[in-house]
Amino acid sequence: MASNSCKTVVIGGGQAGLAVSYHLGQHGCEHIILERHQVAERWRSQRWDTLAFQFPNWTLQLPGYVYQGPDPDGFAPRDEVVRFIEDYAAFIRAPLRCGTSVTALGQRPGSARFLVETEDGTIEAANVVVATGPYQCPAIPKALAGAMGSVFQLHSSHYRNPADLPPGAVLIVGSGASGCHIAEDLLPSGRRVYLAAGAHRPVPRRYRGRDFAFWEFALGEFDRTVEHRPPERVSPLLTGVNGGHDLNLRRLAQAGVVLLGRLINGEYDKLCLASDLGATVLRGDEWYTQFTNAVDEHVRQSGLDAPEDEDTQVRLPDPREVSTPILELDLRAAGITSVIWASGFRYDFGWVQVPVFSAVGAGQTSAPIHQRGITQAPGLYFVGLPWLSKRKSSLLAGVGEDAAFIANHIKLRT
Ligand SMILES: Cc1cc2nc3c(=O)[nH]c(=O)nc-3n(C[C@H](O)[C@H](O)[C@H](O)COP(=O)(O)OP(=O)(O)OC[C@H]3O[C@@H](n4cnc5c(N)ncnc54)[C@H](O)[C@@H]3O)c2cc1C
Repeated sequence: MASNSCKTVVIGGGQAGLAVSYHLGQHGCEHIILERHQVAERWRSQRWDTLAFQFPNWTLQLPGYVYQGPDPDGFAPRDEVVRFIEDYAAFIRAPLRCGTSVTALGQRPGSARFLVETEDGTIEAANVVVATGPYQCPAIPKALAGAMGSVFQLHSSHYRNPADLPPGAVLIVGSGASGCHIAEDLLPSGRRVYLAAGAHRPVPRRYRGRDFAFWEFALGEFDRTVEHRPPERVSPLLTGVNGGHDLNLRRLAQAGVVLLGRLINGEYDKLCLASDLGATVLRGDEWYTQFTNAVDEHVRQSGLDAPEDEDTQVRLPDPREVSTPILELDLRAAGITSVIWASGFRYDFGWVQVPVFSAVGAGQTSAPIHQRGITQAPGLYFVGLPWLSKRKSSLLAGVGEDAAFIANHIKLRT
C-alpha cells in the first residue's frame, strides 16, 4: 500500500470541500481534496430528476464565484446546479482526487498527525477537513419499514422519477421538502398519492413582490447564529420547480394528494396514523403567518417599497381529510405498491476514529463536537454541517463564510 503525506486533506468534493479549497489556495496552503465519486456527487446521484434549486439563481454563489447566467431570478434545475459546482471546481483549479474513498480517519497513538486511510493507501496529514455533507445516510424508522410487508420501499434520496416505481398507488412518509416535492412530482403520472405528514413549515415562494430568499436575507434569518437557533428544527418548505411556486399540504390536498397524519405503527400491511393532521396543517399556517408578519414589520420599519399582497395561503380551503382524518390504512386495499421514505437523513461518521463525538444513546446518531467547525483534536475540522455556525452554514450561498474561517485557522497553524 502506498503511503504519502500532505499538509491538509479535505474529504469531500461538494460545495463545502471546494469552498475550503478556495480559501486554502488563497492562503497558499498545500492541500488535496479526496472525493469518493465525482464533484457534486450528491446533486448527481441523490436528487430526483425534476428537482430545481430552492433559492433563486442569484443565490448561486461560492467564494470568488457568482452566478453569471441570464436568469438571476430563475431556479436552476438539478443538472445546472451540478454544472455550477463543476465549473467552480475548474475555476478554482481544485486539487481533486476523485474516485478516492476515505475508509478511515485516525491518529497514531501519541502523534498529533492524522492518518487518512483510502483504498489506494494512507495519507498522513497535519490537518483534515471533513466535508462529507449534512445529509449522509437515509434515516428510515426500522420498525415502521418492517410493517410495510412486501411493498416496494425506497428512501427519497434514491427516488428519481415516477417510472422507477411499480404501477399502483404510492405512500410517502414525511412532509418536509422531499416528501412534498415528490408528491407533486408523482401527481402528473396519474398515480394516487398518500402522504403521511409530520413536521411541515410552508412559506410563500414570493411575498410582497419579492422571493422568500430576499426576505430571509433582509430579516437576517440566514445569518441567525447557532446560539439563537429556534427550538423547533423544521426547515422552510420551498420549491423552484417550474419557475417556483408555493408548495404545502393545503395545495397538495387540492391537487388530489390524500393527506394522512403521522405514521405511528403498523403490522402486516395495515398502518395506524395519528389524528394530528389538522394540528399539523394549522401549525403550518402559524409558521406561514409568522413569516409574513415578520416581513410586514420589516417593511414598516425600513420603509421599503413593497406593496401588500392580497392572496395569502391562509385563505385556501381546508383539505377535506383534515376534518375527516384517516386513522387506519390497509396498503393492499388502497392499492399501495410503493412506499417512499421522506423521513430525513442521519450522520455516518463511524469511519472517523478520533474522539471528537458526543456520546449518544441507542439508536441515536453521534455528532461531532466543535466550535464553528473546530474540534478538540488540533487540526481536525468539520464544515458544511447544518448550523455549524449559522442557519446558512449548510447552504450553497452560506458555506463560504465557515470555509473562510476554517481555512484561516489552518493557515495560522502552519
Ligand atoms: C432534496 C434536497 C434538496 C436540496 N436543495 C437545496 C437547495 O435548493 N439549495 C441549497 O443550498 N441546498 C439544498 N440542499 C442541501 C444541499 O444539497 C446540501 O446542503 C449540499 O449538498 C451540501 O454540500 P456539502 O459539500 O456540504 O456536502 P455534499 O454535497 O454532501 O458533498 C459531500 C461529498 O463528500 C463525498 N464523500 C462522502 N463521504 C466520503 C468519503 N468517506 N470519502 C470521500 N468522499 C466522501 C460525497 O461523495 C460528496 O460528494 C438540498 C438537500 C436535499 C436533500
